[in-house]
Amino acid sequence: MSETIFTKIINKEIPADILYEDELALAFSDINPQAPIHFLVIPKKPIVTINDIAPEDKAIVGHLYWVAAQIAKEKGFAEDGYRAVMNCNENGGQTVYHIHLHVLAGKPLGWPPYQERLKAK
Ligand code: AMP
Repeated sequence: MSETIFTKIINKEIPADILYEDELALAFSDINPQAPIHFLVIPKKPIVTINDIAPEDKAIVGHLYWVAAQIAKEKGFAEDGYRAVMNCNENGGQTVYHIHLHVLAGKPLGWPPYQERLKAK
């Protein structure tokens, strides 16, 4: 049940623009970017939603934020700033059921995010 398209990316069964990889996490460019810079940081462990984070997963989730910050520093947008968020279930806008941190950067980002969608219409 936990097999998603992200499992295929982890297993290199489908291509992705991989930015970072270690034993716990993988980061790759989002295929449908919502900002000049938009990539995803995912755990290799297929955790379905934020609601499914088990006590033993807490360090993994923290690691995802650490990876996001390393890439932000390496790419030079850490000081300008960025957003790092996870969507959860239908009302949160989750479409892939393997948790992932969206990292968005490269422009001032509106808040709350739905205003971004209204502006795009
Ligand atoms: P969410 O809607 O929060 O579940 O986010 C899922 C994200 O995965 C979306 O931003 C999609 O554009 C992205 N996505 C889906 N398939 C791929 C893929 N094959 N490679 C890269 N990003 C993908």
